[in-house]
Amino acid sequence: MLDLCNPKTIKQVMDMFGLKFKKEFGQNFLINHGTVEDIAYCCSDDADITVLEIGPGIGCLTRELAARYRNVVALEIDGGLIPVLRYTLDGYKNVRVENSDVMKTNLEEILKPYFSAGKVSVCANLPYYITTPILMKLLESRLPFDSITVMVQSEVADRICAGAGNKNCGAITAAIDYFGQTNALFTVTSDNFMPVPKVDSSVVQIKLWKEKPVVPSNEDIFFRTVKAAFEQRRKTLANSLLTGFPEIQKQRLTEIITSCGHSADIRGEKLTVKDFCRLSDKLYEELGHSV
Ligand code: SAM
Repeated sequence: MLDLCNPKTIKQVMDMFGLKFKKEFGQNFLINHGTVEDIAYCCSDDADITVLEIGPGIGCLTRELAARYRNVVALEIDGGLIPVLRYTLDGYKNVRVENSDVMKTNLEEILKPYFSAGKVSVCANLPYYITTPILMKLLESRLPFDSITVMVQSEVADRICAGAGNKNCGAITAAIDYFGQTNALFTVTSDNFMPVPKVDSSVVQIKLWKEKPVVPSNEDIFFRTVKAAFEQRRKTLANSLLTGFPEIQKQRLTEIITSCGHSADIRGEKLTVKDFCRLSDKLYEELGHSV
């Protein structure tokens, strides 16, 4: 059986199909089989699940997932890799490969039969250029994924897993905390990829809340509040909100912030998801419950 983590084999397979690594698709393939096993292992302790893989590449992680879990649905944007996957995944009857861009895919439609059959989790070595939009798409789809286990740039992983008050905290931290509980799993240095990227990567896991611990009155205002709070990091929360909510006067914004129990000069990164919910509820009230 082909060792899809062996750089020589990867090169041979790519040559055989006349392919080159496409930088624009973030094609950095894993060349460490132990890491591939670790990622697949961390995805779930339940073998009876379907796994959605984004970006199977030539199929190294796909094979590992297929060996461990009931079904794998793999979405690959690069049409050139589809014949490769047909070749490398020959005989893997529980894998369905789709040539599609995850950002343009109707996930609900494609995953409907799998959700009807049981749990669905996401597992992927994500392309660097589009990590945050993919994560937000998965979460905002409101599909009841059990967990999302992804390899991302270490810097992004630090942001995802930063607690409130941490210097790495950003809009993505609060947005993801709203949907689930994050966990940093392990780091993978850049020499474990082909071609070698400029940065190291980390695997993070998001366990989606079955029931969200905090829910705002209006989600649009909640996300608008979070976005505004982090858009200008050096500014105080009051000044940031002034840009995000130009219809409310500065003096009133400061009153709303202090009425939530914060000091007038607090910065956005100090707020927890619960704080953001409370604040956004007050802003929603101030706007007369209109968006
Ligand atoms: N899973 C393989 C591995 O671990 O070696 C490849 C991972 S590589 C970092 C990212 C993969 O995502 C590539 O195969 C790339 O073509 C694919 N990809 C990039 N953008 C995508 C998108 N929008 N939708 C689906 N796949 C995408």
